[in-house]
Amino acid sequence: MKALVLVGAQNIEIRELATPSPGTGEILLRIRASGICANDIRDYKGNNPYSLPRVGGHEYCGEIVALGDKVDKNQFSIGQHAVSYIIPACRECSYCRQGRENLCEKAPVSKTFYSKDGISGFGGYAQYIAIDTRDVYVLPEDIPFEIGAFTEPLACVLNSIGHGKIEIGDLVVVIGGGVMGLLHIKLAKLRGAKVILSEPDMKRRNLAQMYGCDIAFDPREKDPVDYVKELTGHRGAEVVFNTTAIPAVAEQAIRMTSAAGRCILFSSMHPNTPLQVDGGRIHSQETVITGSVSPTVYSFQQAVKVIAEKMIDFTPLIHKVYPYTSATEAFEEASRPDTLKTILRFD
Ligand SMILES: [Zn+2]
Ligand SMILES: [Zn+2]
Repeated sequence: MKALVLVGAQNIEIRELATPSPGTGEILLRIRASGICANDIRDYKGNNPYSLPRVGGHEYCGEIVALGDKVDKNQFSIGQHAVSYIIPACRECSYCRQGRENLCEKAPVSKTFYSKDGISGFGGYAQYIAIDTRDVYVLPEDIPFEIGAFTEPLACVLNSIGHGKIEIGDLVVVIGGGVMGLLHIKLAKLRGAKVILSEPDMKRRNLAQMYGCDIAFDPREKDPVDYVKELTGHRGAEVVFNTTAIPAVAEQAIRMTSAAGRCILFSSMHPNTPLQVDGGRIHSQETVITGSVSPTVYSFQQAVKVIAEKMIDFTPLIHKVYPYTSATEAFEEASRPDTLKTILRFD
């Protein structure tokens, strides 16, 4: 099979690798679409600490082409369209047993991130992948592969939305109107919130309105903290999601969260400089500050349902689809800050 092997910064080779054969309890997935996410771009640019060579790609969707031994044939069959939960969670550590598989203690030391002599990575930038059936989720066959590739990013956002504990009528602020910000807006609306977006790009603000955003403003024109306070009788928003990597913006997100409110740092921070937080206010106002990383098994299952039931129109989020043979061009394009989701096709 062909695979995109990252061998150095901005250096992807299309290599012929052995096609995996499905082991006991595994299926073989022929990957058809695989999204490029901000973390894949950090891989590509050489900004991640993971070992090379590496086959990245964790937002993939494909079809089942072979079944290994002991696969339940009532549940899985050749031709089904499927996606995979991609965290190499052990399901045995104390976090996994709390349903927090995204925090698994063993995942960070798995070969997904570090492989001594071999290839690291999620393996989604290849034509085939063998997957344990416990991680396989079947999608209806009328869901296009490019849409199925949104399952993993949507599952990340569903985990974040869960941390927000949004109630009907809550005021929710989303900072940043990229793919992840826009999905936060849509899901917060489904939870019954009034939603405000802070985003400098007008095209993204317009798109946000399409996803039901109530107020979209440009943070260069209005001070975001003052504006949110002004809209809420100085209380601040009940829930704030920061989808930007900028520490100064994360500080603003915390400052605009109300007493008893929840501030979710969804994006990773780059550079990860320490934040200035008014500890006295957090103490006296019981404001909750938390992070959100990757999907849990629960949020992944939720994402599969949302996609299968066609509850979100993902089409406006697709920037461009490239054949995998144009991977370098696709990564260069996806690196531009003004693009939405770039997807690779494997045919
Ligand atoms: Zn991702
Ligand atoms: Zn674990």
